Amino acid sequence: MPEPNHRPPFQITRDIAGWPLWVLIDHRTVVMLECDACHHRAAWSPGYMAKAFPAYRGKSLEWLAGRLRCGRCRSEYVRLWGA
Ligand SMILES: [Zn+2]
Repeated sequence: MPEPNHRPPFQITRDIAGWPLWVLIDHRTVVMLECDACHHRAAWSPGYMAKAFPAYRGKSLEWLAGRLRCGRCRSEYVRLWGA
């Protein structure tokens, strides 16, 4: 009997998942994103995150990842990792 697959559509590396956005911004973390569907890539600089998500500074990156869609194809299957 296979396990039910509860994997959320997005994937995020453990080292960046749990941090609030403001911590990632303070640590000058660049967040890399790639869409699993169309392979569109993006990089979020700390400056971009500060400007783009002012209301979510206290939210974790994992929380935000659950609400993301690819900017090109609108897929929810997005991967995130720190650079
Ligand atoms: Zn896409």
